[in-house]
This record gives sequence, structure tokens and C-alpha cells, in this order.
Amino acid sequence: MSKSGEMRFPMYLGGEWVSGDGESREVRNPATGEKIGTIPLGGAAEVDRAVRTAGAVAPGLARMTAFERAELCGRLADAVAARREELARTLSAEHGKPLHSEALGEVDACVGAFRESGEQIKWMTSRVIPMRDPTKRAFALRRPRGVYGVITPWNFPLGVACIYYLGPGLAAGNALVWVPPPSTSAVASELMACVEAAELPRGAINLVIGEGAVVGDALVTHPGTNAVGFTGSTGTGHKVATRAAGKPLLLELGGNGPSIVLEDADVEAAASAVAGGSFANAGQICTSTERIIAHEAVADELAERLVGLASGVRLGDPLDAATTMGPVHTADGARKIVEQVEEARSMGAAVLAGGGTLAGMPTGQFVQPTVVDRVAPESRLNKDETFGPVAPIVRFSELSQLPSLVASSPYGLSGAIFSRDTERAFALAEEMPCGIVNINEASSYWEPQTPAGGASGSLSGVGRSGGTWSIEEMSEVRTVVLNAVERPGLG
Ligand code: NAD
Repeated sequence: MSKSGEMRFPMYLGGEWVSGDGESREVRNPATGEKIGTIPLGGAAEVDRAVRTAGAVAPGLARMTAFERAELCGRLADAVAARREELARTLSAEHGKPLHSEALGEVDACVGAFRESGEQIKWMTSRVIPMRDPTKRAFALRRPRGVYGVITPWNFPLGVACIYYLGPGLAAGNALVWVPPPSTSAVASELMACVEAAELPRGAINLVIGEGAVVGDALVTHPGTNAVGFTGSTGTGHKVATRAAGKPLLLELGGNGPSIVLEDADVEAAASAVAGGSFANAGQICTSTERIIAHEAVADELAERLVGLASGVRLGDPLDAATTMGPVHTADGARKIVEQVEEARSMGAAVLAGGGTLAGMPTGQFVQPTVVDRVAPESRLNKDETFGPVAPIVRFSELSQLPSLVASSPYGLSGAIFSRDTERAFALAEEMPCGIVNINEASSYWEPQTPAGGASGSLSGVGRSGGTWSIEEMSEVRTVVLNAVERPGLG
């Protein structure tokens, strides 16, 4: 807090709070339009300082035992748990997600991420490789990558950072430099108060705040950044991949996987799962249920049930305990969602619920839970990532139509299949070009110890995040060969 009483959310570099050289940006609440405070806008100098300080502490982190690093993760989990309410309130105010039904849970997931990363690293083993030469012993040792650059999106401002990167990265022994999006940097700054309270080695986790094209780019191109983890849109991810060419990359990008409802599905259960997948976090999840490919035999009932479930969503003030959906995070996002629905309507779709923003709200970002039926496969609502609370139904009548409908969007992050014939669903799941396929569960269902990531050939990214998969991606294998010529001859 500044002398004028205004909230300031500084960067955190090498264990010090840094406000940059004066350039700053306002943080506004998407639900009220009110100013929450200001964030500094850093530049290449702050990135350089962060990378250097991380480079200085990295060898010490790498030398720690797995048990010592697990202890750091545990302390960080405790520090986050101790600030649960405070973090969730800032998260809700800055992002727009409901405090009670979503923001508190996201903070809890971060506590879990640090705790579980600490547990997982204690049980991950290295390998001994059989050799042709009888005097040789070869070991494949897991080593941290060193300075790990992390860039994250705004949809889960704390969750993506902690679950995908900060927990596993620290457990693996890396020093981290984190660039969050400017629009959710206030809560990122508050997370650094937990890093400080946990008394991590100075520089183990650093936060640089600024415009992504400035500080994100400076981070990935810095010669001291050894590896990059990026989660965000496909367009930015491809820029990052080009700029970071040659460095190890973990890219978690956009999603728009199909949710297929077959003619033998339990439609009531499918509708409930689909509604959860479409409306949670106001549809702003990379694995949201963004296109529902439903058989004609069940599509009417599915649509009717979805309309009923949409009417049960409480869109409103994120701080109200009864609210289950808040505004979407950005005004541009709200515009894009409504445009996509309008385009689908102009191409023959029927908008059965919602379709616009709720009138009389303090901002124009309260997009209504929306159900759209008979969506044309060529419309953007089906092909592109909508990132809003929209359940679009594309109908089919013959199984032979499925391959082209599945392929009608280039993303392949997460999908779902609903059918009472689990054998058939499993066979389909094996062929579905997505990193995750959930059977009789929403496409957005994910537990963080399971691997998540884009399918090869899709626009959804490279590598796998989650639990030990993140730890593996954020470490590398070093082969050490021991020449054991001397034989003591005990037997
Ligand atoms: P975005 O691509 O606009 O921004 C992501 C991050 O990149 C931000 O921190 C931004 O500041 C930074 N950035 C912007 N330009 C940059 C540049 N030139 N160089 C380096 N960094 C730069 O994405 P967003 O709108 O914040 O997030 C939404 C997207 O994230 C959606 O597409 C969603 O599907 C995706 N996402 C994917 C996953 C996953 O697991 N695959 C998880 C969450 C979100």
C-alpha cells in the first residue's frame, strides 16, 4: 500500500520488492469497473536482474537433496494456506471469478500443488542402465534445467502458475522467473508474499510484471534462461516457440476439443457434465466444453436439459456467496463471445438460452450462460476457441460423420465421450486426437497428478503438465558412466 492509501503490487526480484522505473498500469475489477490498485510495468532490465539472480541461486537449489526441496515446497504450501482468504479475494476482484464457488478452490489447488510436488519428488527415482561393457555402470540422473522461465495466462492466474510450473519446478530444483499477464499481476504479486514468508532461498522464485510482448519476450530470449514453460493462446505460443528456438519448451496452448454425445448416452448425466464443462469459470478454461457433437436421437433432450441447467446458473456479483458465474475477464473477450454466437445464428443456429450480456450490470462483461443448437460446423463457434460460457451443439446422425466433425477444429487438448457402451467409448477415446479424453465426464475434468497437454498435430501445444509429468519436463536426464574396472572379488 502506498502513502496515498492506494494498493500497489510490486515485482519480486531476488527476494526484494521492486517497483520498476515509474511506468505503471491500473488494475480494474471486471465486475465493477472500479480501480483496485496499480502494478508496475517492468522491462528488459528487470528481466535481466531476475534471470541473473535466479542463475546465482540455481546451482545451490540443484545441489539440495530431494528431501530439502520437498521441505521448501511444504513451507510454501503452508504460507499459501495461511493467506487463503486474502489471495482468493484479490483473485476474485482482479479476475472476476466467484469468490466462494471458484476463487477459494483455486487457492486450495495451489496449496495442494506445492504439497504434492514435494511428495512426488521424494518418490521419483533415476535409472541404472544395463551396459555391454562389464566394467561400466551407467546412470540416467534427473537434473534440474537451471533457470526456468515461466509465462502464464489470466484464466487461472494462480492455478496454472503453481500447478504447472512453480510447484514442480521448485521440486525439480530449478530457479524460476515468472511473468504473469498484466491483467492478473496483482494476485501474482500477493503470491510472492507467500514466497517471502516461506523463506525460500533468495532468487528461487522471481516475479517480473509487465507487458507480455516486452517482459515475456525478454525472458524467453535471455541467454540466461535455460528453458521455457508457456501457457496461453496458440498465437502467442507460436511466437514464443520461434523466439525461444533451441531451448527446451513446454507449451500448453488453446483448446476446443469435442464432447461427443452418442445415441445411447445417459442424457441427463451428460447434460449435467456438459453444462459444468461449458459454464465453469465462465467458460474460460482451456479444456472447457466448447463444442458438443450430439447424435440427433438425443440432441433435443440434451438441448432442453442444457437450457434448464443454464437457467440455474447465478450470474452476478463474484463476492456474493450465491453467485456461480461472474463476468468474463476482458471486455474484448465478451465482444468476441457475442460475435461468435451472432455469426452462428446468421448461419442457421438456434440460440436457445442467453446469447448476449446481462443488462443493468456495472460492466458489459457479464455474458449470459448460452445454449446454441444446430451450429454449423463451419462457424467460428465450432472451429475456434470461444473462451466463454457457451454450450454449442453440432448435430450428427451417422457415426461416419464423426471423423470430419472431430477434425473440424484444429485444437486437440481435451475431449469427452458420453455413452452407456463403455467398450465403444474406450475404443473411440483411443482414437480421439486429444491429450485428454474423459468418458462420461466433462472435458474440463482434470486432476493435477494426471498429464495434460496438446495432441501432436493439433494447435494445443507440446509436452505434458501435471504432477510428475511437469517435474519430468522441467528436468533433464544426465547420463553418468562409472568405469568400475577394479573388482574386489568378494565372491
Ligand atoms: P495470451 O497468449 O494472450 O497470453 C499468455 C501470456 O503470454 C500472458 O502472460 C501474456 O502477457 C504473455 N505474452 C503476450 N505476448 C507475448 C510475447 N510476444 N512473448 C512472450 N509472452 C507474451 O493468452 P491469455 O489470453 O492470457 O490466455 C488464454 C489462453 O490460454 C487460451 O487460449 C487458453 O486456452 C490458454 N490456456 C491453455 C491452457 C492449457 O493447459 N493448455 C491452460 C490455460 C489457458
